[in-house]
Amino acid sequence: PALDVSSADTGVKVIVRVRPMNKKEETEEAEQVVHMMSSTCVALADQQFTYDAVAGENSSQEAVFHMVGLPMVENCLAGFNSSIFAYGQTGSGKTHTMWGVMSDSDDFPSDDRGLTPRVLESLFARIQEEEMINADKQLLYQCRCSFLEIYNEQITDLLEPSQRNLLIREDTKTGVYVDSLSEEFVSSVHDVTRILAKGLANRRVGATTMNSESSRSHSVFTCVIESRSKSEGEGISSVRSSRLNLVDLAGSERQKQTGSAGERLKEAGNINKSLSQLGNVINILAEVAQSGKHRHIPYRDSRLTFLLQESLGGNAKLAMICAVSPASSCRSETLSTLRFAQRAKAI
Ligand code: ADP
Ligand code: MG
Repeated sequence: PALDVSSADTGVKVIVRVRPMNKKEETEEAEQVVHMMSSTCVALADQQFTYDAVAGENSSQEAVFHMVGLPMVENCLAGFNSSIFAYGQTGSGKTHTMWGVMSDSDDFPSDDRGLTPRVLESLFARIQEEEMINADKQLLYQCRCSFLEIYNEQITDLLEPSQRNLLIREDTKTGVYVDSLSEEFVSSVHDVTRILAKGLANRRVGATTMNSESSRSHSVFTCVIESRSKSEGEGISSVRSSRLNLVDLAGSERQKQTGSAGERLKEAGNINKSLSQLGNVINILAEVAQSGKHRHIPYRDSRLTFLLQESLGGNAKLAMICAVSPASSCRSETLSTLRFAQRAKAI
C-alpha cells in the first residue's frame, strides 16, 4: 500500500552517542576532538551540532535505553511501527549500543546489556501490565521475532543460516515481508536472549585493519507484536499489529580508510548500496517533511530500504543513534556521521 508521507507525523529522534577513548587511543594519547557541550549539543573542534539528545562517553546503557528505548516500547504498544537504527563508522560503538554485553545467566543480567535486550524486557513487562488491566476485554498479546542479515545485498536468516539469499515480497494484505524467513514466538526475556545469542553467533564478521570485529553487514532484529481483544458484549475480536525493528547498520566509513582491497572492496561497494540508499531515503523524507510536497520515495532500490519501507515513512516512529569516536584520528568520519545525523533530524 502506498504511504502518505506528506501528511506524516514521523519526526525522527536523533541521538548522538560518543564512546570513550579505547585502549589504543589512550596509549597513543590521542587528541580528543569531540566534546559534549550539553545534553543536546556536541562539538567537533569549533563546529557545534544540536540533536534531540547527546549521550556522552560516560553515558550508561541504561541511560541510553531511557532516552531511546523506552519511548519506542510505548510506540509499539500504541500500534506504531517503530525502529531504532545504529549508524556510524566501524568501531564507533553501534554493536555495543544495540546488543551490548550479554550475561550467561538470566538471573544476573549484565549492566552492559544493550538496547535490544532492554527494550524487549520492558516490552514484556508492559504487555503483562496491559493484559492485566484489560483482562475484561480479554486483551492478549503475541510476539514473534526474526533476525536477519543483509550482506552484499543478500538476505540471510540468522536463526536458520542455511537459508541464504531470501527474497523480499510484497502482499496487499500483509505488506512487505521476507519469504521463508523463520520466526520464533517469544514470551520472555529468556526466549529473546536465546534468539539473540543464536543470531549473533551466526553473524558474519569480517576483519579490516580498522577493527578486528568490524562488521560489513546490516543486521535487523524484528519483533512483531500482535494484540487481540474482544469488544464488550459483542464477542468480536479486533487484532492490532506493529513491528519493532532494531537495526545494527554496517560501518559507514568510506572504504579507502579501512584499507579494504580486492574482495573486501567489492563487498564494500555492495554494502554501501543499502547504506547509501538509506541516506538517500532519509534525505528525500527530510525534503518532503520540509517542503510538504509529495515525492516518490525509492524504497525499492536497496534491500534494507525495501525491507523497512513500512517502518521508515508514514506514521512509523524512528530513532537514529549515531555513534562516534572522540579521537582525532576519526575526525573526518565523525564529521560525516554528525552531518548524516543532522540530515536525519530534518525529517
Ligand atoms: P561498531 O559496532 O560500531 O563497530 P563496537 O560496538 O563493536 O563498534 O565498539 C567497538 C569497541 O568499543 C568494542 O570493544 C566496544 O565494547 C567498545 N565500546 C563501544 N562503545 C562503548 C561505550 N559506550 N562504552 C564502553 N565501551 C564501548
Ligand atoms: Mg559492530
